[in-house]
Amino acid sequence: MAGTLGRKERWVATGSIVALVAGLLVGEVLHRNGLDGVVSAFSVAGDLMLVRPLMMLVLPLIFTSVLAGITSLGDPSRLGRLGLATFAYFLATMLVAATLGATLVSLAGPGLGLSPEDVSALKQSGVERFGAAPKLAQAAAAGGEGLAYAWLKIARDMLPANPFSAMSEGQPLGMITFALVLGVAIALGGAATESAARVFGALNDALLRAVGWVMWIVPVGAFLLVSASVGRVGLAQLLGPLGMYMAVVIGGLAIHMFVILPAFQLVLGGGNPFRFMWSMREALATAFATASSSATLPVTIRVCETEGGCSQRATRFCAPLGSTLNMDGTALYEAVAVVFLFQLYGVQLSLGELAVVVATATLAAVGAAGIPSAGLVTMVIVITAVNASLGSEKVPVGAMGIVIGVDRLLDMCRTTVNVWGDMGAARVMTRLAPD
Ligand code: ASP
Repeated sequence: MAGTLGRKERWVATGSIVALVAGLLVGEVLHRNGLDGVVSAFSVAGDLMLVRPLMMLVLPLIFTSVLAGITSLGDPSRLGRLGLATFAYFLATMLVAATLGATLVSLAGPGLGLSPEDVSALKQSGVERFGAAPKLAQAAAAGGEGLAYAWLKIARDMLPANPFSAMSEGQPLGMITFALVLGVAIALGGAATESAARVFGALNDALLRAVGWVMWIVPVGAFLLVSASVGRVGLAQLLGPLGMYMAVVIGGLAIHMFVILPAFQLVLGGGNPFRFMWSMREALATAFATASSSATLPVTIRVCETEGGCSQRATRFCAPLGSTLNMDGTALYEAVAVVFLFQLYGVQLSLGELAVVVATATLAAVGAAGIPSAGLVTMVIVITAVNASLGSEKVPVGAMGIVIGVDRLLDMCRTTVNVWGDMGAARVMTRLAPD
């Protein structure tokens, strides 16, 4: 058994890295040769092989993992401490990420150095793309309702009238609340509810075992999905008029991933962050390939517990919550994208407006679901808030269409940082909630 596990772990860990590099190269070759049919086939196969099996497991896993995490904590006062510390950590890291994004984009000014022809071509294509993307148009309509609406939506998602319909609609926040409440009730129930705790704990173990099976497919699935994403758009876009914008997003994400979050971990006693990062490579590769924190969650939980040295209690609490609420990469991305769009429209934002960007980018990141392109859709919150603070609509929300064409590659990068942020939280919180 141990031999089998060792073989699997070696294959998944090494294969994931090889898959990413091979996926980037093969995707580029497919794009240059215009092999769209192969790209579509890869995309469908990757979806069937990796994304769907993970998504099938994720909702039940969120439920049992939060429940098992809470009931194993025992004393509810420990839950209070863990909860407060986790939320403070989420908020602090997201605010730092958004501030970093706003600072870098203001310094680099990717929207300022373009020729007037490039700017008008971008605006034109943006409007067209926006019109063709119904999700963005819907978001724009909802965004018109303002910040209060955005908060209210998060609150409503957190308190579902019907936890089962939240589940069937794939709304993880509502399920987490329900699992938290039930978990506390079971923990307080003593001997009368002990058997329920055992049942949910056992179900959770069974689900994690099934995740272990899916992990065999991670390298192949990651290869197919990365090839398909790159094959659709090509890497040459990094050199086009949006290249500088993309470089600022990717550079900022790299600083956050390799400098800031490791510093948080070191200072808060999370151990050697780079060794930890290396042991988390399957989850990071899955995040990059799927561009979805939710789809990655089963892998995140498994590798944190088995290889990352995180306690089950901290992992089962931080990872599910983090996958929907804690999105450092998205916060940074939203800040860069919005300031970039304002630059394109000839508006230089003052410090006060940049503060609005940082605060609302964080809110937009919290509100974004852990699925591909979610951050692009919630960007409307940030644009609307900055326009409101400027007193007129300087940038139409339709301008989001400008960045949609290059979104997938950035989504893959920011999702990797989102998941890395969740794992860092589990690692740091292991000190508060050891097994
Ligand atoms: N795709 C991201 C995630 O799942 C969210 C986003 O679009 O920023 O974490």
